[in-house]
Amino acid sequence: MRLGESVIDDEDAWKSVSGTAFGGVLLATLVILIIHGASRDGWVPILDSANLALHEAGHPLVGIFSDRLMVYGGTLFQLIFPITVVFHFSRQREPAGFVIGLVWLGENLLNIARYMADARAQELPLVGGGEHDWTEIFMRWGVLAKDVKIAGLTRWLAYVLMLGALVWLWRRYKTQKNAEMI
Ligand SMILES: [Zn+2]
Repeated sequence: MRLGESVIDDEDAWKSVSGTAFGGVLLATLVILIIHGASRDGWVPILDSANLALHEAGHPLVGIFSDRLMVYGGTLFQLIFPITVVFHFSRQREPAGFVIGLVWLGENLLNIARYMADARAQELPLVGGGEHDWTEIFMRWGVLAKDVKIAGLTRWLAYVLMLGALVWLWRRYKTQKNAEMI
């Protein structure tokens, strides 16, 4: 068996990635990161509005089951939806959709990290004027003084996830192109 064949055998379950799809995902990720970096609060329009809507829906829905867990509901819902997208496209073996889901998850982690970092400072405007989720959560965990540090780690996790997803997509694209040439 030639090397090329074994590569195709291992990975034939995933659908192919076109150069346009890879370029589109790369461009969208760069635009998201540039807007995130350039805006004062790291706010990415449309995407963060969707994240916020999911977040705000999460509190009362979790609150139905538990008052104590209600504070986690916002963050939980922010993460559940991109994770569902990731699983959906992973099952469909659609590489571009899978990576878009991971990039959305990473962008969501950046948004969450921004909120975490604000736990002591409390400078961000809160929707509905309620309590600050991360002040409450970090106080429960006894780590309020480490808010900026935990936010920093979360931000790194976000960047690693986004970069890793793009590298994975690029490698798939390259492997597939090499296989086509054999
Ligand atoms: Zn909240």
